[in-house]
Amino acid sequence: MQHDDIMYNVKSERAEEFIHDGEIRATLEYAREHRDDKPLIEEILDKAEKGKGISHREAAVLIEVRDKEIEERMYAIARRLKERIYGNRIVMFAPLYLSNHCVNGCVYCPYHAKNKHIPRRRLTQEEIRREVIALQDMGHKRLALETGEHPKMSPIEYVLESIQTIYSIRHKNGAIRRVNVNIAATTVENYRRLKEAGIGTYILFEETYDRAAYERLHPTGPKSDWAYHTEAMDRAMLGGIDDVGIGALFGLSNYRYDVVGMLMHAEHLEARFGVGPHTISVPRIRPADDINPEDFPDAVTDEVFRRIVAVLRLAVPYTGMIVSTRESKRSRELVLDVGVSQLSGGSKTSVGGYAEGTEDAEESAQFDISDNRTLDEIVGWLLELGYIPSFCTACYREGRTGDRFMSLAKSGQIGNCCAPNALMTLAEYLEDYASPEVKAAGTEMIERLTKEIPSDKIREITHRRLQEIVEGKRDFRF
Ligand code: SF4
Ligand code: SF4
Repeated sequence: MQHDDIMYNVKSERAEEFIHDGEIRATLEYAREHRDDKPLIEEILDKAEKGKGISHREAAVLIEVRDKEIEERMYAIARRLKERIYGNRIVMFAPLYLSNHCVNGCVYCPYHAKNKHIPRRRLTQEEIRREVIALQDMGHKRLALETGEHPKMSPIEYVLESIQTIYSIRHKNGAIRRVNVNIAATTVENYRRLKEAGIGTYILFEETYDRAAYERLHPTGPKSDWAYHTEAMDRAMLGGIDDVGIGALFGLSNYRYDVVGMLMHAEHLEARFGVGPHTISVPRIRPADDINPEDFPDAVTDEVFRRIVAVLRLAVPYTGMIVSTRESKRSRELVLDVGVSQLSGGSKTSVGGYAEGTEDAEESAQFDISDNRTLDEIVGWLLELGYIPSFCTACYREGRTGDRFMSLAKSGQIGNCCAPNALMTLAEYLEDYASPEVKAAGTEMIERLTKEIPSDKIREITHRRLQEIVEGKRDFRF
């Protein structure tokens, strides 16, 4: 419960003012009152169609919509926006777990400090090398580093050294070109050091925006400090990281509250720093060791999950949206269609899982995977659905981050880079890692889509570079 003297202030430095409980509750009330207000809903959808986003209040109304026809219109707009901004490209990545030692008590995560069933492990630099080589051999170019919070086992120095190791490894034609980092909330100084180490996006999930629920779910450890956790992205921005990725773990608490909170977080970052989140992740609670989803009565159904994704797409059209292998093939198909732009593939959620693939590693998994297909199978499936699997990492390597990236994205200019980059990185994947069937399907798509690149100059250069990729050259980008 918040005190009455705390006012909602989108630009505030204080979590309780920019994720203001009273504003969220008033928004949910407003949404309930207006869920059958057709003229208002039509107005919100018309605004969404323009691709400039909608506010957290407007999004809350759409989350409540039950009219089938309106719902279908909402999905159609989400699909069109996605098509307009992202084309049919889906960016691929994989998580890399460095350590599962953790001092926190998050009740939904098997790494919580009190769980004695799982083997604890922290990778050495040599073990990281082996993991990275295994990931490169699958074809990955973009990683998300994951680690539990532990001042002794995974201090910032360990994370920085690991990033350096990862970027230094060249195995055959492999290279990890972008390392996104998902580590516990930390200081401005540490964020500065991460930025200097060349990270892509700094990712941190809020888990739930409902403070009371958050405090219940995080009873012990540094993460139990809601304000420190919620202000982490502000400190990351002050430390110079301008691509940040937010997320909520849907099912921990009321999803309506979390959607509104997440959008208020995005509005806050935009208002205070001039740039909203680079990505939003939408994980849902999954079974794992010591975790029973039945203990979480707020779990969201596939239908609701799809609606959440579509509403987020309407609200923040230029923010990438990520789903992991927590989701099954079927639910991934549902959300790809209405807004998701990034997927993980061939993931292991255990420490040491890629190089070893042993039972030991499996036992230390953070959550059970629903989509167990290999990266090659996922690439083949995306091609079949008409998507271009993209291994592009060009933007941050070209200095297109933060507001620079957003202004290119909003003007539509980024599309001139994304499409050819997707085709060229897919061509690299096909040459180096694909099965013959996937290679045939991908080659056919590349030939067809290269012809559709609108600019003569870019089409010509892409065509030439694709030829050079077949001849063995690598790492072209616009
Ligand atoms: Fe630790 Fe993160 Fe798991 Fe919480 S969610 S127990 S901080 S690894
Ligand atoms: Fe992403 Fe930039 Fe590559 Fe486009 S060009 S896919 S925005 S990294």
